[in-house]
Amino acid sequence: MTADVIDGVKLANNYRDDIKQEVARLNNDGIFPALVALQIGDDPSSKIYLENQRKKCEELGINYTVWSLSESTTQKALEDHIKSLNTNPSIHGIILQQPLPAHIDGIQTIQVMAPNKDVEGLHPQNYGKLFYEDHNLAPCTALASEKLLRSYEPNLKGKEIVIIGHSSIVGKPLSMLLLHSKKEAPTVRICHISTKDLKAHTLAADVIFVGCGVPNLIKADMVHKGSIIIDIGINRVDKTDEQGQVLLKPNGKPYKKTVGDVDYEEVSKICKAITPVPGGVGPMTVAMLLNNTIKCACLTNNSIK
Ligand code: NAD
Repeated sequence: MTADVIDGVKLANNYRDDIKQEVARLNNDGIFPALVALQIGDDPSSKIYLENQRKKCEELGINYTVWSLSESTTQKALEDHIKSLNTNPSIHGIILQQPLPAHIDGIQTIQVMAPNKDVEGLHPQNYGKLFYEDHNLAPCTALASEKLLRSYEPNLKGKEIVIIGHSSIVGKPLSMLLLHSKKEAPTVRICHISTKDLKAHTLAADVIFVGCGVPNLIKADMVHKGSIIIDIGINRVDKTDEQGQVLLKPNGKPYKKTVGDVDYEEVSKICKAITPVPGGVGPMTVAMLLNNTIKCACLTNNSIK
């Protein structure tokens, strides 16, 4: 038996159709949703990400601009840029592109951002609201993971859920999103690098979310036939042939591929359902970022969605 595949591209396309309609509605009201990505320095990996954001925004009719600041931009100068974006009525959302140079304090910077322009849902005000079951602007990857699960299994009442990874952008906000129902909530455990017996937790779980950045962390003997698995990890690894030999390009460097944190080939023979990597949480995270941008445009213009 092979597992059902929970298709992130398909679900993201459904969101995109809704976002397109919402953009059209806002345009009719004279509102043109606009997103600014602040990039400090010129990390090559973030360039690919920025290009991807630009394409997706263009497709949906969202204005997208990258503000490139030099690597030597000071904390004070960055905060001044953000304050000017906060008061600019034609800008609705701000992304602080990662990675940040070592001298920039990411948490301090986020706090300068207007909470209703915080498309990544990381401002303490938005983060705090998550605890009160108001998740108008929640972190995009956590939202993406939760929505993928609920698209496959809407009834989480009493389910045993294990989240592996306790970062501020993934595991912690995801746990809050899952607990958002007083009567229908699942039981949620969070595991991490110091968890003593990971396998004991995963075998007891109906649902496993894993976001660690460790390829093959979840193996076939850690899941059962009823497990639903949402793989959040993104890892670049060497491509190999059937004998396990690394495949090399003509220049001698290895070919690379993207994998998650689950041994997909083996685990998908056993579990009930699984998200692929690529094609699972990744495209849904982008869809949630754009959805948050529309929410920000509505919030700053008091235009109820
Ligand atoms: P992080 O480094 O902040 O957190 C990693 C977490 O994994 C920590 O809680 C750590 O304790 C845990 N961990 C690490 N090794 C472990 C192990 N061997 N056993 C159990 N727990 C372990 O990372 P992050 O920013 O939360 O990202 C995690 C992964 O999710 C990365 O692969 C990242 O690329 C991916 N990610 C994907 C998306 C997406 O859109 N799909 C978005 C953000 C992050």
